[in-house]
Amino acid sequence: MITIDSVSKWYGDFQVLKNCTTTVEKGAVVVVCGPSGSGKSTLIKCVNGLEDFQEGTITVAGTSVGAPDTDLPKLRSRVGMVFQNFELFPHLSIMDNLTIAQEKVLGRSRSEAAEKARQLLARVDLSAQAQKYPLQLSGGQQQRVAIARALAMDPVAMLFDEPTSALDPEMVSEVLDVMTSLAREGMTMMCVTHEMGFARKVADRVIFIDKGEIVDDRPTEDFFGKERSGRAEQFLSKLL
Ligand code: ADP
Ligand code: MG
Repeated sequence: MITIDSVSKWYGDFQVLKNCTTTVEKGAVVVVCGPSGSGKSTLIKCVNGLEDFQEGTITVAGTSVGAPDTDLPKLRSRVGMVFQNFELFPHLSIMDNLTIAQEKVLGRSRSEAAEKARQLLARVDLSAQAQKYPLQLSGGQQQRVAIARALAMDPVAMLFDEPTSALDPEMVSEVLDVMTSLAREGMTMMCVTHEMGFARKVADRVIFIDKGEIVDDRPTEDFFGKERSGRAEQFLSKLL
């Protein structure tokens, strides 16, 4: 579903991604971890075209992200992205947060979009909050709205960038539970997270990235097994 092939990216003289190659199969869940500043956010932003890159290719569901003739807005509408800080529209109700792109980008009718929104709000257990505004909700609730909003576009894959890092500890599991159920239903997911319990339980593969380089990319059981590479070992020993 997602192929990243020999991708390199520079900010001026600084090489932020170094020849990154990996694949996320349809229905697979890949966790991306690594030290702060290693390029995790940059890598997943490249996948839906929020960042450009100078070398290599990325394709999502057969569409090449970097190609000049690619319709990026269309591609982005099919790849859900969930950020650390929710990024909801603060001036719109929860319902309108979920319907606006369905209407404007997918051309759904108001009633069709609202019906989809209601189903998804029920799914993330937020039906009662539809008429509220984002800042009236807790962080965990806002993040569940953000996930529902992404799902409203019927994405072919979901990208998560540290979705629980900004949350109070008691709200982390409500968001991870939603992500876990999505994974179980077969959603293709690429998740930047340091929640190693989630990785162990849900991920098919774990990628470890350090200084812009993918230094480990292995099945989950292997990654948490005995023979980790030196840098991944050092990193994990602080988390586990
Ligand atoms: P991570 O998500 O792993 O913490 P990022 O992908 O956000 O890392 O950043 C990787 C590196 O690129 C960092 O050193 C960061 O300072 C640098 N960086 C990120 N965005 C920019 C930018 N717009 N211009 C220059 N450097 C940047
Ligand atoms: Mg980041």
